[in-house]
Amino acid sequence: MAECCSGGKTRIIHTCSGASDVGEIADKTARKLSKDGYGNMTCLAAIGAHLSGFVESAKGADENITIDGCPVACAKKNLEHIGVTPKSYILTEMGLVKGKTPITEKIVTEISNRIKEKKQKTRTDADKSGEGSCCCG
Ligand code: SF4
Repeated sequence: MAECCSGGKTRIIHTCSGASDVGEIADKTARKLSKDGYGNMTCLAAIGAHLSGFVESAKGADENITIDGCPVACAKKNLEHIGVTPKSYILTEMGLVKGKTPITEKIVTEISNRIKEKKQKTRTDADKSGEGSCCCG
């Protein structure tokens, strides 16, 4: 599987691609970051299916980042299930509101830029309250 480089290092981008607005923005953000050369987007479903090539690529990467729409953090948990600790970005912790966020190019660009600048807000206890809930839409 092809991997992309940043400063000579491999960085793989995993996204939840959820059905909700924030899940779609996560997906579009990952695609933009990949097109911009920030890293290489891969298939999260393949990680969830424990397909060896994808799992080994993640384990061998210099950096894995996950982009999740909400605190359920499906992408992050997929990585953790294979023993990889990613750099996690959760869009509801970056100011987006699940179910109330328009899917626009402007928002995708803003989130992409913030990830590049690594300016994620620190998780709060309130944010964590969504953990363990289900359903994406
Ligand atoms: S529940 Fe949240 S983290 Fe999981 S796929 Fe849906 S938006 Fe993404």
